[in-house]
This record gives sequence, C-alpha cells and structure tokens, in this order.
Amino acid sequence: MGWIRDWKRRRLLERHRVDDARWRRAKKHLPFLAGLSADEERRLKEMAIVFLAEKEFAPVRGVELSEDDRLEIALQACLPILELGLPWYDGWVGIVVHPSDFHVKRTHTDEHGVVHEWDDELAGESWPGGPVVLSWEALDDSGSVAEGGANVVIHEFAHKLDMMTGEADGVPPMPSREARERWLAVFDAEFDRFCAATEAGRKTFLDPYAAEHESEFFAVASEAFFESPNALRKDFPRLYELFRDFYRQDPARRLRA
Ligand SMILES: [Zn+2]
Repeated sequence: MGWIRDWKRRRLLERHRVDDARWRRAKKHLPFLAGLSADEERRLKEMAIVFLAEKEFAPVRGVELSEDDRLEIALQACLPILELGLPWYDGWVGIVVHPSDFHVKRTHTDEHGVVHEWDDELAGESWPGGPVVLSWEALDDSGSVAEGGANVVIHEFAHKLDMMTGEADGVPPMPSREARERWLAVFDAEFDRFCAATEAGRKTFLDPYAAEHESEFFAVASEAFFESPNALRKDFPRLYELFRDFYRQDPARRLRA
C-alpha cells in the first residue's frame, strides 16, 4: 500500500507550500533553524506539510493553535528526523496540547504490595503507540536559545525515537549490531560521567533532570544537540559525535556563530 501513501503525499505537496513570510516568522521564533542549506530547508518544509496532514492536533482546555503554531510544532518535530525520514513517527497520530504544565497521577506497586501514588507536574509526555502531550506554556518558552536550550517539542519527539525499539531506554534503533554496541559504550560512559558530575554538585551545561534515567539523558541531550550544539560538543564531544552519526546531521557546523 506504500504507493497510495506516496501518491497522496505528492498530491499534498503539489497543493501546499510554506510561503516565504511564514518561513521567516518561523525562523525568527526558532533560531536554531538557521544555517540549513536550500535543499535541507525545502525538505524540512515538505516534511512538515506531510506531518501536519497525517498527525492530529488536539488542543484541550481552551488552547487555540494558529496555523503558525502548528507549523512551528511540525518544524521542530521534523528537524530531528530530517535525514531519518517520516516513517520514524509511524504508529501514532495524536498531539495533545495543554494550556500549561499538567498534572499526571502516578501509581506504583512495590515489591511488598504497597501502592504508592503521587502527582507529577509535566511540561510534556509521550507514550509508546500513544500521543505526544505538550504544555503550551513550555512551548512558548522553547525556541529561545537564550532560555538555556530547552525545547519541549524536540524532547518529547526524541522519546518517540527512543521508543521505536519498544521501551524508552536511551537506545533508539541502530542500523547494525556494531552501531548498537558503539552506542551503548559511548552513551553509557557519557551518562555515568554526567550523573557523577551532577551528584558531586558540579554544574554542567545540561539540565540535571537528565540524570533521572537514560531515556531522559537521551531526550535532554537531543534538545541540546539541535538547539545549542556547540555547547554540547564542548562539554560532551563524544556524545556529540554519537548523535551526529545517529541523526546524520552536524548542527554545530551550521550554527557556528
Ligand atoms: Zn522526558
């Protein structure tokens, strides 16, 4: 059935385009889109158009999303998969947008059968096979490199890539066993180094939240890779190289001041 999808996508691209004024507005809000080649820009815009047609936005509790808002979410979601391809986001359709950070009830039954319940306040969340959930408030802050390189869209969509293997463990699908072994060796060493620094109270450039779990380290480092790649490369050069080979992009080169 692949040809039906390809045909639909071609028709879609014949009818829709991102005009120059909208692209300029998006780039102003998302300065990390700078430095793309003309070909990369064209492919990113096309990917975003297909993404917008195939995913479903569900704004809740009074959130209103303009066409520009949707486009900017799509551009940020598609940037990480620019060289990997849209099939990396297959298997789910929903993007839920809350007005502000939202509370999620968690329960966990421990080995003694005791049920623990608590409330998490989240800026975003993604589930295997389920929707991506974003907070509008957090979205509004992202896009500004000056804010410390936080980007809730790239963060949640990085979780989606990680979960392609079934579980969120900081290991996205790898092209070969050798690539997977290299990933585990470098990623785990960099994660341990980061956790040791955080525990010792040393400030690194990455958000200390990344020490929670390998999957959070992957998502937070992915935000940095696209938003503040030169800072990531300086603090974590081996991690930067690993991400460059995985994402098949070199943002530090295109965003060099
Ligand atoms: Zn996360």
